Amino acid sequence: MGRLVAIANQKGGVGKTTTAINLAVALAQANGDAAGLPLLVVDLDPQGNTTSGLTPQAELSEIKASGATVYEAIVGTVEVTQALRRIRDRIFLLPSSANLVGAEVELAGADHRERRLKEILDPIKDHYSFVLIDTPPSLGLLTLNAMVAADSVIVPMQCEYYALEGLSALLGTIARVRRVLNPDLEIDGIVLTMFDSRNRLSHEIARDVSRHFPDKLFQSVIPRNVRLSESPSHGLSVIEYDAKSAGAEAYRALAAEIALRTGATHISPQDPIEASGEQTRKSWNLRALFGRDNERVRRNG
Ligand code: ADP
Ligand code: MG
Repeated sequence: MGRLVAIANQKGGVGKTTTAINLAVALAQANGDAAGLPLLVVDLDPQGNTTSGLTPQAELSEIKASGATVYEAIVGTVEVTQALRRIRDRIFLLPSSANLVGAEVELAGADHRERRLKEILDPIKDHYSFVLIDTPPSLGLLTLNAMVAADSVIVPMQCEYYALEGLSALLGTIARVRRVLNPDLEIDGIVLTMFDSRNRLSHEIARDVSRHFPDKLFQSVIPRNVRLSESPSHGLSVIEYDAKSAGAEAYRALAAEIALRTGATHISPQDPIEASGEQTRKSWNLRALFGRDNERVRRNG
C-alpha cells in the first residue's frame, strides 16, 4: 500500500501537471469508500502549477508565504508533516514554491542529495493510497529525487513529431536510475495526451508508440479538451469543473486503468472501458481508435 508514482517527462507542456491534478481527483473519487486511505500530491516543480491548479486563488499567497512547502521539507528546515495541506476531503498536497528552484543548486554538494525526497516520504507514504509526484520539465536533481523515491513512473506523452525521441532519453534515464539508485522502479505506462482525433499525426504517433511499447501504453487516451485548460485557473480539476466533459471522462478512465494495472486493491477493479462510459469507449480508447483506422483502411482500399 502507499504506491508512490512519479509523473515524468523532461519535455515541458506535455500534460504532466494536468495529469497530476486530474488523476489525483479521479483516483480519490474512485477510491470513494470511507475506509479507503487519502491520496497525496507532491508538487516538485518550482513553477507550482499543480499547487495553483488545486488551490483556490485566495489561499495561494498564504501557501507561498508560509515557509512550509516541499522545498523546506527537502532541505530539512521544516518537518514534512508541517508542510502538508488538506486540499480536499481525501487529498493532501505537499505544495511547491519558487524557492524550489534553489534546491537543485543548494543540494548539489550535499550527502544523499538524490535521496532527500525518499527520506521525507518513506515515513509517511503508507498513510496514503497513492502518492503522485509532479516533476519539472528536466532530468535534473529534482526529477532524479522523484525517481529514487518512486515505486513507478507514469509518462504523459504529447502526440507530436519528436515525442518518440524524447521518450527514449527518458527511458534511458529510468534504466540508469534502476541500475544505480532504485532497482525496483517500474514503468506503469505511457499515456497519450492532447490527442486530436482529426489530426493524422496523432494517430500515427499512437500507432508508433503502441508498436514500440505494446505493454506500456495505457488504453485510455486523453483528448485535447478546452475544459482541461480552463479548470486550473479556478483551482479545480476538470472532474470538479465539468464532470461531463471529455477531459473528465478520459481521466476517470485512466484512473480506473491505473487502479487495475497497479493492482490497487483498495479500488474496486473494473474494466477501464466499462468504467469510462459509452462516450469514452467510442472516442478515447486506443482499441476503439485503431478499430476505426482499420475500418477506414478496409473501406478505402
Ligand atoms: P507540463 O506539466 O508537462 O508542462 P501541462 O499539464 O502544464 O504540461 O500542460 C501544458 C498546457 O497544456 C497547459 O496550459 C494545460 O492547461 C494544457 N493542456 C494539457 N493537457 C491538455 C489537454 N488534454 N487538452 C487541452 N489542453 C491541455
Ligand atoms: Mg508541469
